[in-house]
Amino acid sequence: MASLDCPQCRHRRLDPIHYDAVEIDACVHCGGLWFDHNELDKVVRTYDPDYPRKGPIVETLGQRAGETHKQCPRCKASLVTHEFEQGRDLKIDLCHACQGIWLDNGELDHAKIFYEIPEAVEQIKRETTWGHWLFQFFLQLPVEFNIKARAFPIITVILLVLNGLLLLPVMSTQAPEYLWYPWGLIPDDIGSFHWFLTLVTHQFLHGGWGHLLANMYFLYILGDNVEDTMGRILFLLFYLLCGLVAGVTHVGYELTIGGATSIPAIGASGAISGLMGAYLYIFRKAKLTFMLIIFQFKLSPIWYFGIWLGTNVLFLIVGAPEVSWAAHIGGFLAGLVFSYFIYDSILKTNPLIRYLNQS
Ligand SMILES: [Zn+2]
Ligand SMILES: [Zn+2]
Repeated sequence: MASLDCPQCRHRRLDPIHYDAVEIDACVHCGGLWFDHNELDKVVRTYDPDYPRKGPIVETLGQRAGETHKQCPRCKASLVTHEFEQGRDLKIDLCHACQGIWLDNGELDHAKIFYEIPEAVEQIKRETTWGHWLFQFFLQLPVEFNIKARAFPIITVILLVLNGLLLLPVMSTQAPEYLWYPWGLIPDDIGSFHWFLTLVTHQFLHGGWGHLLANMYFLYILGDNVEDTMGRILFLLFYLLCGLVAGVTHVGYELTIGGATSIPAIGASGAISGLMGAYLYIFRKAKLTFMLIIFQFKLSPIWYFGIWLGTNVLFLIVGAPEVSWAAHIGGFLAGLVFSYFIYDSILKTNPLIRYLNQS
């Protein structure tokens, strides 16, 4: 067979490669892929449970979006840019003569997203079951309906394990306050070097199993998705930052209004409130179950965490002790503001969320 030239790099040759058992041609230099007539259909078919619901790809392309300087590697005709689907921002290059398709580096992954949308919608729209009802009735925790994380949430798991391990010394002593005083966050100590350390350490200490499990459940259901969209390093920094803002809010509140200035505050709930803010902002189409006595509803995160925030504000005003409502509110707002600033870059790297949030 004659060798094919890369439409993008011109004088570089395309090499035959196997992609999901379909032989296509790839440029190792620019990462672009050439699909002869119908080859792209064979590749994406694996990702589309309803194929060929829409018919062959060349017949379902969106509008013509301009000419290119790229040449068809088969018949040397100029490739023409088309929307992959009507109104979508993915643009691909088509040879009108032989119906071959050229995808630049990364465009295949983007194209596959279109076939994930129906499944993602399905995932979110699932009906609640008796199992969900029983779970929430006995544990008073919501069931989450959302897309699956693409990568294993390693940071979330490390945080879960670390919080769990740090409960062991608390459980093995008769007087856990000996651990809380040195490592919890004490408003009176503000400004000292040690106080700055406790802004981080207090986030990893819990008072008992109940306190830990409620926090860790929310970390588990929200953390994987948020970590997936932000990336690992940013997610870890974000988590610690929300906990830090929550701690500062707590200290500020107790020193000015609350008055509990010598009691150490502990717990991951400030950081996890930040996760709630981020989740609400990024995963607008997800659902969480909410239970009113025995009636279970599926609410969007905006409603779910809106009610949660309202409850926190209410308890702050009526002055229910034991829980730092101010820290929750501070952490939550930090998560919301942080997500607002990175939202555009998140949508750029997560086309599935972009399409879901648009719809
Ligand atoms: Zn190339
Ligand atoms: Zn051609």
